[in-house]
Formats: sequence, structure tokens, C-alpha cells
Amino acid sequence: MPEQYDVICVGTGFATSFFLLAYLKKAKPTERILVLERGRLDTLGWQLDNKRSSSVDPKDTYINRHKYKQWDYNPGFGGGSNRWWACTPRMMPNDFQLETKYGVGIDWPISYDEIEDYYYQAELAMAVSGPNDGSPYPRANPYPQPPHMFSDADRMFKKAYPDKYFIQPTARARVETANRNSCCAHGYCTICPIDSKFTILNEMAYLYDDPRVTLLMEATVRNVETRGNLATGVTYFIDSGYKTAESDLVVLGANTIFNPFILLKSGINHQLTGKYLREQVSKYVTIDLDGIDNFGGSTSITGHGYMLYDGDHRSSHAGCLIESLNVPHAFSLRPLRGRWRQRLIIKTVFEDLAREDNYVKISDENPDLPETVYSGHSDYAQRGIDALPELIAKMLSGLPVDNFEIAKRVNHTDSHIIGTVVMGNDPAKSVVDRYLIHHDYRNLVVLGSCTFPTASPANPALTLSALSLWSADHLMGKAV
Ligand SMILES: Cc1cc2nc3c(=O)[nH]c(=O)nc-3n(C[C@H](O)[C@H](O)[C@H](O)COP(=O)(O)OP(=O)(O)OC[C@H]3O[C@@H](n4cnc5c(N)ncnc54)[C@H](O)[C@@H]3O)c2cc1C
Repeated sequence: MPEQYDVICVGTGFATSFFLLAYLKKAKPTERILVLERGRLDTLGWQLDNKRSSSVDPKDTYINRHKYKQWDYNPGFGGGSNRWWACTPRMMPNDFQLETKYGVGIDWPISYDEIEDYYYQAELAMAVSGPNDGSPYPRANPYPQPPHMFSDADRMFKKAYPDKYFIQPTARARVETANRNSCCAHGYCTICPIDSKFTILNEMAYLYDDPRVTLLMEATVRNVETRGNLATGVTYFIDSGYKTAESDLVVLGANTIFNPFILLKSGINHQLTGKYLREQVSKYVTIDLDGIDNFGGSTSITGHGYMLYDGDHRSSHAGCLIESLNVPHAFSLRPLRGRWRQRLIIKTVFEDLAREDNYVKISDENPDLPETVYSGHSDYAQRGIDALPELIAKMLSGLPVDNFEIAKRVNHTDSHIIGTVVMGNDPAKSVVDRYLIHHDYRNLVVLGSCTFPTASPANPALTLSALSLWSADHLMGKAV
């Protein structure tokens, strides 16, 4: 007989962990929750010793035939939190209403105001450090941690653009927490050597020790079981065999590649499942400074520039978020005697719009794996990239800058995989509703940035975590 649970969750990344954070607060003491994670629990010690964030190579888990485009994720307990850079901007209010405001893309079925408090709850759980001298988006509460320190190059931008340039919000601790050290701005930050950045391992692993939760590692969910229009459980592979578990609610938090794959393998074939795969599109710009010494900020990415982000230009080309790097490695230094610090590298991150010809499908070659099919980014993003030389020249005019150089190619990944199970009010144009519940299977929840209808320039993890809290609260009956 299959084991019975109240809830089955798939994955242990941001999506599932933030769902559990809200869900467990209101769940009955007798509730039984099964969590299935395909990867292993690779401790920080293991990651540092082995110089990689997962003992499972993500490339073995899906097929990507594209020569240049990569899709980066981290299989294992805590998912991408082991590998992320911990940049935690919120999206801007207009990101939720691109179509209404600028006549492009599609509106979200949720407004910024509706999830403002969920943003704050997610920031509290991650102990986010952020600016205290203004904000690009409205905030009801201050950031949980004090701000990090700007570099002198950031101060140059802040002086020129006081209302558009801010200290970057980040889940790298400014002051130590019970579980984390304060950031040392060391620069090798993918696996944080001093355990300063927020991970599920260091701040939320306790959720999985809850007596109501059963966690099975190295358990790969193949499909959701269904009866009529109900999800009845999942079938998963563990210890070289398949098992089935049953539940009243199924929650997929397996990310933008695997959530649609699991749905497709289950025969849950909404016509948009897997569609609109994309990321933001980014390019580095190297700026040689005139008399300003860079570095000296207190974390690896210190500034966020909104000069090219929101405004009427979004009717014709993509908005762009600027990140300033405070990473004093060889490639960031200026090869000029006495002036090696007078260089600033910024990343320009453009939003992208959906394309029909970018999607996740069941691989024809190996039906046990998903395959990503990618034809390129949108013309909208490309027009933003084409405008970059003029935009950067204008942005830097009058500033103490010798020259700048824009990278020739866009980066092969921005590590922010978006789309494939989009949310909306209209079941003909979206797969899940505003609470991330599948339109056709009302006890099936799909979490993560796969549900984002548009790919704002902002990093996605804070928003997707806030949405997990919002979805769980809705399911637990809070009037929202
Ligand atoms: C190098 C890098 C840097 C990044 N930096 C940032 C940043 O600074 N800011 C930001 O906002 N975002 C960042 N991201 C993106 C961020 O990590 C992701 O958006 C986030 O991890 C997605 O969360 P998730 O829970 O939806 O999915 P994941 O974190 O990918 O978790 C999904 C989990 O599900 C498991 N799983 C998958 N399939 C199955 C299955 N069939 N059965 C069981 N388990 C399964 C996976 O093993 C994984 O552990 C970065 C990502 C990378 C790779």
C-alpha cells in the first residue's frame, strides 16, 4: 500500500522551504508532510573541500543542445541557495504591470502591494541587509540588517544619481546572526567560505527536522499521480526502485526545468506547460576611472543602479538593472602601474520577454530527462542591448571616467531561470492561478520562478520566496 500523507513537497530549495515556513506555522500537530529531494545533503565543509556546490552534476540531469546558452542550477539539499550570490532586490511595482504601463509583455495577476508584506517576511527569514537612505520600491518596514558599505566607485554614482543608485540589498550578513558570520568581501563567494550568505542549510534546515516532516534524500520524483482532476500523490525513484506515496496536496518546488517536466511526465498537459523558458540577459561593462580607487566596499556586489531600469523606454526596449562588482580579482584590476584599483566592472542585466520557441520538453532521446530548447532572447531585450553604448555613454557623461568597454557577447547564463509554468487569471493563457494553484488540478501547487509571467531585471529568489509564503498562507485560509 502507498504511504499516506497530507502534503507531498518536491525539492528543498527556496520554493519549498519558504512554503514550509508559512505552512508549518498553521499546520495541525498531526499533519504529515513528505518532502522528496533528488540530490544529497552536501555540507558546507564538503562543498569547500570539493570546490563545488553539489555532488550531483546538474549537466547529468537534463539535456541542453545549445552551444552557448547554459542553464545553471544546483541539485541537492537547499537547491540554489548553496550556489547563489545572495542578491535580493525586490521587483519594482511596474514589473507587475508591464502590459498596462508600457504595452509590452503581460501583467502579473498579483500587484506589488499585495505581496509587499510577504517580501518583508522573506527578507526577515533571510536577514537581508539593505539601504536605509531610501529605496527604489516602496517599503513599509526597514531592512532587517543595516546596509553594507559602498565602494568609492559606488559613491561616485550615488552622488550623480541620488534617487536611482542604492546599496545593494543582500542576504550576505552585514552583522553576524546566530548562524552566520558577517561578510568579509573576500570575492570568492559562490560557496561562501565563512558561511555568511543565507542558505537553506544554515538558516532553514530546522524546518526539515520538524516532527511533522519526513525528508527523503536521493528521491527523484518522476510524476504526479492523478485521478480525474485531482492530484493523488507522486511516484518517485529511490534505492533503485519506484515507490508511490499518496497525499491530499502536492506541491512542486523542483524549479523551472523540472516542474514542467514532472507535469508533462504526469500527462498534465496544459498547452503552455514548459513554454516561455527564459532568463534575463546580461553583459559586463568595464569602466576605467579617473582618480577614483575602487574596491573597499563591504560585500561582493555593493551597488544597484536603477538609472536604466524603469520608464517610458520600456515601451520600446528592455529595462536594465546595474550591479557594481566589488571583487578585487585579477580580471577586475586595471593593468596600469599605480592605478590598478581605478577600474569598476558593472553588470547590466536586461529583462526578457517570452518567446514561443524557447521551452522545456521531454527529451526524445531519453524520456527520463527534460530537454531545454532555446532559440535566443527577445527582440525587446536585444534592442536594450543595442542601445547600451549610447545609454552607458550618457550615464557616465560628466563623471570622472577615462573610458569604458562593453563586453562583446552576452553572458552564457544569468542563473535565473524563469517561465515554463506561468501564472495568470485566464486558464487559456496561464497554467497556474495567482496563488500558484494549477488551473485544472486544484490540489496541485507549482512554486518558483517558473510561474513568473515576465522576467524583470531583478534577481528572482526573493520574489519567488515571497510567493511561496503567499501561496501557503492562502492555502491555510488566511484572507488575502
Ligand atoms: C550561480 C548562481 C547564482 C545565483 N545568484 C542569485 C542571486 O544572487 N539572487 C537571486 O535571486 N537568485 C540567484 N540565483 C537563482 C536562484 O538560485 C534560483 O532562482 C533559486 O534557487 C530557485 O529556487 P527553487 O527552490 O525554485 O529551485 P532550486 O533552488 O533549483 O531547488 C529545486 C530543488 O528541487 C530538486 N529537484 C529537482 N527535480 C526534482 C525531482 N524530480 N525530484 C526531487 N527533487 C527534485 C533539486 O535537486 C533542487 O534541490 C542564482 C543561481 C545560481 C545557479
